[in-house]
Amino acid sequence: MADPLTLLPEALVGKARALDAADPLAAYRDEFVEVDGLVAYLDGNSLGRPLKTTRERLASFVDGPWGSRLIRAWDESWMDAPTELGDLIGRVVLGAAPGQTVVADSTTVMLYKLVRAAVAARPGREEIIADTQNFPTDRYVLEGVAAECGLRIRWISPDPAAGVTVEQVRAELGPRTAAVLLSHVAYKSAYVADLPAITAAAHAAGALAIWDLCHSAGALELALDEAGVDLAAGCTYKYLNGGPGSPAFGYVARRLQDELRQPIQGWMGHAEPFAMGPGYEPASGIRRFISGTPPIVGMLPMRDMLTLVERAGTPAIRAKSIALTGLAVEIADEALAAYGVTVASPRDPALRGGHVLLEHPDFERVTAELWRRGVIPDFRPPRGLRIGLSPLSTSFTELAAGLGHVAQLLAEGPDRRSALP
Ligand SMILES: *Cc1c(COP(=O)(O)O)cnc(C)c1O
Repeated sequence: MADPLTLLPEALVGKARALDAADPLAAYRDEFVEVDGLVAYLDGNSLGRPLKTTRERLASFVDGPWGSRLIRAWDESWMDAPTELGDLIGRVVLGAAPGQTVVADSTTVMLYKLVRAAVAARPGREEIIADTQNFPTDRYVLEGVAAECGLRIRWISPDPAAGVTVEQVRAELGPRTAAVLLSHVAYKSAYVADLPAITAAAHAAGALAIWDLCHSAGALELALDEAGVDLAAGCTYKYLNGGPGSPAFGYVARRLQDELRQPIQGWMGHAEPFAMGPGYEPASGIRRFISGTPPIVGMLPMRDMLTLVERAGTPAIRAKSIALTGLAVEIADEALAAYGVTVASPRDPALRGGHVLLEHPDFERVTAELWRRGVIPDFRPPRGLRIGLSPLSTSFTELAAGLGHVAQLLAEGPDRRSALP
């Protein structure tokens, strides 16, 4: 097989090498577990790579807090882990003061709790605003809450290659709106919604703004407190490298905490969990958003990534993210467009999150072959190849090599490939 870089224009390969040479974050790549046969990992926005330090953290947990402190560790540290880790996420990635972020559940369950609490806090308002391009779980959760509470969803249908604009939200807002639920960064197109403006528009109509930050946390700079966001949730296994199924984070602005009631009233969100008394009495503050026993093991790996993110700083991470997605767009234009590939993400870097969506009718088969070759993007039906670029673990030449393989597979064409043994 020819070196995939030879399929790209020399100037682009030179550019990728120069960007790596000048990259102030280049050394962070050595912190990640090395994998034989991996050519390009282009899916760090879906499942972040493990850090080498996570090996030791997990192993020492077995002999340490779990193995030797046993149940005493609940009192010693585990009970506070959801809020202590929440505060760390708040400080390092969300722009949130302490006491407003909790780690619990999956994003799906956390979204349900937040949406349900928001709707209950706006009695008499029977509409929720959402968009048809949001991630399936967000739409399904909303449909469930709407059915449960007798609400109507006002669906916005954004341009699939872009996303929801503040004008589109304003057109749906009114005195009947209880809440607006949107993703900050669109999971397919990577469009960055205008979080401060949409939040302000929701408030002007008396509604609550709920943000899904799955594709933002750890990739973009966030300032939830400053923007006056009401509620937010997001994944920790994407850009925060918490490992498969690591728990979600939830953010509830302090001013709303005592007014909101979440629907999964478990003992761990009770004011006095160990009194084990009759009747549910919610804890004060962010603790009331916890339901059951915190997933302590699942909270371990993300701490290693948060340390790295804090050291690198989100401005530098965002700067590299923009450079990576910019190079992906440039390679798509100069080396893949000739085969019919189009860019289905915003070209303006300010409107583009940490990944790039490319489209071509043959991408489903191309993706299967890429995975065999150790090039790992993901396929988004019907024709999207999503190139996820986690800034601390991805290099510019790695990206170029991955897209070089895409060029090679498209150049061979479907007929030749199916004739190969
Ligand atoms: C990844 C993702 C989710 C995933 O939710 P889980 O409950 O962790 O499966 C939800 N929303 C968005 C926008 C996502 O990108």
